[in-house]
Amino acid sequence: MRFISSRASDPGRTVSFREAVFAGLAPDGGLYVPVEQPDLRAVFGRLSPETPFAELARAVSAALFAGELDGAAVDRIVERAFAFSPRLHPLEEGLHLLELYHGPTCAFKDFGASFLAAVMEEYLQEESRRALILVATSGDTGSAVARAFFRRKNLDVVILYPSGRVSPLQEQQLTTLGENVTALEVLGSFDDCQRLAKQAFLDRELQGLLRLTSANSINLGRLIPQSFYYIYGVVRAGQDADTPVYYCVPSGNFGNLTAGVYAWAWGLPVRGFVAATNRNDVVPEYLRTGDFRPRPSVQTLSNAMDVGNPSNFERLLHAFHRRREDMKSLIRGVPISDADTRQAMRRVYDERGVLLDPHTAVGVLASRRFLRELSGKARLITLATAHPGKFTEIVRETTGVEPDLPESLRAALALPKQAFPLEPSLEALKSFLRGRYA
Ligand SMILES: *Cc1c(COP(=O)(O)O)cnc(C)c1O
Repeated sequence: MRFISSRASDPGRTVSFREAVFAGLAPDGGLYVPVEQPDLRAVFGRLSPETPFAELARAVSAALFAGELDGAAVDRIVERAFAFSPRLHPLEEGLHLLELYHGPTCAFKDFGASFLAAVMEEYLQEESRRALILVATSGDTGSAVARAFFRRKNLDVVILYPSGRVSPLQEQQLTTLGENVTALEVLGSFDDCQRLAKQAFLDRELQGLLRLTSANSINLGRLIPQSFYYIYGVVRAGQDADTPVYYCVPSGNFGNLTAGVYAWAWGLPVRGFVAATNRNDVVPEYLRTGDFRPRPSVQTLSNAMDVGNPSNFERLLHAFHRRREDMKSLIRGVPISDADTRQAMRRVYDERGVLLDPHTAVGVLASRRFLRELSGKARLITLATAHPGKFTEIVRETTGVEPDLPESLRAALALPKQAFPLEPSLEALKSFLRGRYA
């Protein structure tokens, strides 16, 4: 595969996967997107419902990166990246959950972060050089990245997170690793964090001093492997020619949904997608009205989806050649309020005995609404993006039930927080980075 900036004028300069992974953002400020989508139907045809996830990831990676990574490199990367797997779980008639929270930080971002860390380690080892990862997070990206890169050779990580806008558990996960992982507590919003990261990547002076690279959902090395579990879910659910499959994706920055659209473009038999959002609904609004109006994010229960200006929207536009009608024919936007999110959490627990985190609850409710609209003539796979134990307080106060905290998370709670406060200005960030790494 070759990649090009989403803002490149035709024909534009193309780059390899390696170059895109280390650049993060394209030099013109655009996001890297595939020049052409490969046809992987032959690869999909060789998979069966019994194919283990790691084997699937290996087969798909080998096809995507043929000519760029040899078989041995692909094996090493997949083995290092995926010691965990998604699980498909039937919830009710026509509706499955694809649980993506069995990785080290119990959220779907483990898949992308783990693969990216493994890929970077592989490339850096070949070139014997160092890199500095700069990540803006609204909570879950940062902890997944911190864990994925912790103690990786030739890699340092700096995490920007919005003060007071992440859960106490998320903050513990971000701030307690130490060693090659540094947390910056930004006195501002997630949008400020994201803006700072973008500005830093475009700053000539910093680029001259440090090998800066990104690991949030703008990085292709995180985005591409997220398509693997869409393939896994469909293969695992099995064939049923009469009932089309749709994915429902709880969305914030729209990286996850973009990965699903890529899998579809590679030939995965998916009829469409439901983009489930909270009140931060600029994309559903765009699909409805044709106006894209980015705005400051508002705080909700599903805080990892509190994004007012989703970066990956640019990739989505590119994937559909900027034609809203084409995007609309594949993607349905469904915004869900906090009150309805809580009600969905209660109802799913009462009816099915299943605890949902608020993000997954947004997805389940959007799926139910969509299924009703189609009079049940569809199979929905809702991505369960986080373990309910990551959102103990919300789950407890909503359902009256205390969710289990996975062991990997419990350990982080006991450790002391180490974070540096930061004013939300590029100058403040630059002076910190210069002092610590240059
Ligand atoms: C990040 C995140 C989302 C949103 O994913 P995007 O790729 O940003 O759209 C949803 N749920 C959880 C739990 C997350 O951490």
